[in-house]
Amino acid sequence: MNTAYISIGSNIGDRLHHLVEAVRILRLREGITVTAVSSIYETAPVGFTDQADFLNMAVGVETGLVAGDLLEVCQQVEHELGRVRDIRWGPRTVDLDVLLYNNDNIETENLIVPHPRMHERAFVLIPLLEIAPLVAHPTAEAKLFAEEAAVRDEGVILWKKLNGVDELLQEGE
Ligand code: ATP
Ligand code: MG
Ligand code: MG
Repeated sequence: MNTAYISIGSNIGDRLHHLVEAVRILRLREGITVTAVSSIYETAPVGFTDQADFLNMAVGVETGLVAGDLLEVCQQVEHELGRVRDIRWGPRTVDLDVLLYNNDNIETENLIVPHPRMHERAFVLIPLLEIAPLVAHPTAEAKLFAEEAAVRDEGVILWKKLNGVDELLQEGE
């Protein structure tokens, strides 16, 4: 079994619904068990700033899937929830990124793990550290992600405190 972390973000339409449905679909997929969900955080956009605020969360999974297949599932979830690929870093119904996969360093055409920008993104690190406070860079130095300067960013607001996946799924009902 493999341990992976996925970040989910949405800034179009019913953002909460998109996060809840993304987790619901992930759970239903064979070979994926959702073991942890963070609270939901709200963040102003970075990069392309002329767009609505994001809701972001992090999810921990146990999976028998190899990393490339996990990415493919993430892209299927985006597709099922109606994501249209348009402006890079632009508005989206939902974005699922693979942050970490075991302690692996992966670099293929489609997939880079750890996610290459995660260490500089408070909206990724703050939810991730809620469910995995001791997670470290998969390098010899094994620096904790908690030591990254971005964690101290004040632009990330706790939007909805959650305790576990059942509470999250009830939000969608
Ligand atoms: P960012 O990667 O900066 O968060 P984004 O999530 O908006 O930007 P997407 O349009 O969702 O970018 O994805 C662009 C490409 O990134 C995908 O086609 C995918 O193959 C590639 N990719 C590489 N590594 C990863 C990863 N760890 N998780 C998700 N996608 C990845
Ligand atoms: Mg992304
Ligand atoms: Mg993405």
